[in-house]
Amino acid sequence: MARAFIGFGGNIGDTRQFITDAIVCLALRCELQILTKSCFYQSAPVDALGGDYINAVIEIETQLSPYGLLYVCQAVEQEFGRERPYANAPRTLDLDILYFEGVYQDDLKLTLPHPRITERSFVLLPLLEIAPDFFLPNFGELKTYLPKVAHQRIEKLPCHNCALGEKGISSQSTH
Ligand code: AMP
Repeated sequence: MARAFIGFGGNIGDTRQFITDAIVCLALRCELQILTKSCFYQSAPVDALGGDYINAVIEIETQLSPYGLLYVCQAVEQEFGRERPYANAPRTLDLDILYFEGVYQDDLKLTLPHPRITERSFVLLPLLEIAPDFFLPNFGELKTYLPKVAHQRIEKLPCHNCALGEKGISSQSTH
């Protein structure tokens, strides 16, 4: 089993609903388990066209290979009507594999870790929300990159994530 992080983004249609539904699609697959989900964020497009984006990041555990996970992510994008009329076009739903435990490669089809992790507030903020001490070999602590993206407009949206980790559940059951 490997840990991985997936980033979601979109700016056409009801993106919050699309991301929520896409996470359900992933959760229904037996080859992966969802460990954590960030809140939603609203961000200004960076090197892209159209209106504001909605973004989120999840942490998963998977027995898929990196390319197997890419295949699943692209199938989910297709399911939600993703089209690629031109580079950086507005999109219903984009899934990026941000990090796959132990895999470092520079293949155009799948670059890992994702080459723009440290350059985008819409990746760094939700990722650091669920993994505050994330350390990326060759890059260091991700939180040290926050000042570099401070000029990129982003807002955390009101969030009702359930906070019941195993600790919460076991502490409830003892009372
Ligand atoms: P996009 O237009 O952002 O969806 O880019 C999709 C293309 O990026 C696909 O052809 C993928 O094969 C490629 N790609 C390279 N690295 C990654 C990655 N870490 N996660 C997702 N797609 C990737």
